[in-house]
Amino acid sequence: MAEFDFDLFVIGGGSGGVRAARIAAGHGARVGIAEEYRFGGTCVIRGCVPKKLLVYASRYSHTFEDSRGFGWSVDEPTFDWNALIAAKDKEIGRLEGLYREGLENAKVTIFAERAVFEDRNTLRLSSGRTVTADKILIATGGTPNVDPKLGGGEHVITSNEAFHLEKLPERVVITGGGYIAVEFAGIFAGLGAETTLIYRGEKILRGFDEDLRDAVTEAYAKSGIRLVLGHVISKVEKAGTVLVGHLDNGTHLEADQIMYAIGRSPNVKGLGLEELGVEQGWNGHIVVDGASRTNVDNVFAVGDVCDRFNLTPVAIREGHAFADTQFGGKPWQIDHELIPTAVFSTPEIGTVGLPEHEAVEHCKVLDIYKSSFRPMRATLSGRDERMLMKLLVDGESDKIVGCHVVGDDAAEIAQMAAIAMRMGAGKEDFDRTMALHPSASEELVTMRNKTETRRQAAG
Ligand code: FAD
Ligand code: NDP
Repeated sequence: MAEFDFDLFVIGGGSGGVRAARIAAGHGARVGIAEEYRFGGTCVIRGCVPKKLLVYASRYSHTFEDSRGFGWSVDEPTFDWNALIAAKDKEIGRLEGLYREGLENAKVTIFAERAVFEDRNTLRLSSGRTVTADKILIATGGTPNVDPKLGGGEHVITSNEAFHLEKLPERVVITGGGYIAVEFAGIFAGLGAETTLIYRGEKILRGFDEDLRDAVTEAYAKSGIRLVLGHVISKVEKAGTVLVGHLDNGTHLEADQIMYAIGRSPNVKGLGLEELGVEQGWNGHIVVDGASRTNVDNVFAVGDVCDRFNLTPVAIREGHAFADTQFGGKPWQIDHELIPTAVFSTPEIGTVGLPEHEAVEHCKVLDIYKSSFRPMRATLSGRDERMLMKLLVDGESDKIVGCHVVGDDAAEIAQMAAIAMRMGAGKEDFDRTMALHPSASEELVTMRNKTETRRQAAG
């Protein structure tokens, strides 16, 4: 192997790439990694982490209002967008430093530049230098889409820019109905912007359990977020400082910012994959097997560039499994079943397992337990809010096949439920578990009465 500069070269210093590089180096491999923007990748620099910080910021408006019911008087709280962005940037800078440090400590050779394929063992760096490696891991992530048919697309922003706006927009329009659109609608509205969410379908969050979709839709409408459903923006015009979004129904919306959150595409442009013959799917994603192998035998891929489950923990674990398998003599594959996920809307969604529309296909008999209640805090705050808990149980095996929560700490609850479900917990196990009182999640172990049983038609 000595004829190559490295045993492994990783393209992309995000969640998956950094983990793979560190673990492979720990197994004794000579590893190089190239990152064209900032180490940490999407999650740390312009995804999960800064997003969650903005979510926290946005929820203080509710906290200030709610505190009055508990005896506090908070006179006209004010909010400073620039202070928030500066604090967020400082924290992101700190994390980026930790990512670099982790790589340095593991003795990974760092290249702060873009890398593309020259051939199956050679990469060209943007400095003009070339490096060679026995194995190459593509971990280049994804980028936000903007509709190419949109007239005036140059006026709109995506999540990349939303983290660096010079000021908080007074009026914002967000297009999309998935994770990012719904999360950012909650962020902007919570921070005080007049917020409109425009989605092409009839109900946001397609694919999630219907009860979760309904609960968030209802809560958003109550909190003053304007939902425009069944429409898209066909053209954006700039009139002075105001943006005008023309809808397909002839009406228009005015805003200071129009944000697009309509999905992401694998970051493969210009990488040289076509020349190498790496198999790609419909949107350019890299086709891999369970061991992250592409059809070119020394080239591997993990994370969002494979467009399977575009979540940070998945990219990290794929990177880890790849490194252990290829360099540690410990072959293992990640199991993509039962991945818990959250939408950090306000109220939050936490979910693991099958939504009802899939569970009913999967289980001959599906028992549904559902509870919607006013959380204790709302009794004094007076806020008109509800919490939803839903368990889906395979009526034949008693196994919990879906757990869905809307409300405070839903993400935390789903993470814990995922452990129980991963261990094969049945409804009886939940029932035998002592409640923790007073908590919201005690509801999950005290739901005695079925809301409904759905049976597959015979035959
Ligand atoms: P990335 O983290 O995107 O890393 C890829 C890296 O490769 C980038 O740094 C890029 O600059 C670099 N790169 C690309 N091409 C080259 C090249 N040719 N040469 C050198 N470097 C290159 N997931 C969650 O689990 N929870 C969340 O709450 C969550 N929130 C999110 C919020 C937003 C706004 C977004 C956009 C995403 C969010 N995600 C969340 C998804 C998560 O960020 C991704 O799934 C995760 O970052 C994927 O990791 P990755 O390693 O595959 O790619
Ligand atoms: P999503 O796939 O979640 O949602 C895309 C949305 O855009 C859907 O509502 C889709 O509608 C709509 N859409 C797609 N194309 C168009 C179009 N041409 N015009 C109008 N609307 C369109 O993508 P996001 O961009 O929100 O997020 C990307 C991924 O990042 C997520 O899927 C997730 O994997 C990850 N992520 C995870 C987070 C978390 O874990 N909390 C947070 C943020 C991102 P339709 O449903 O009708 O197809």
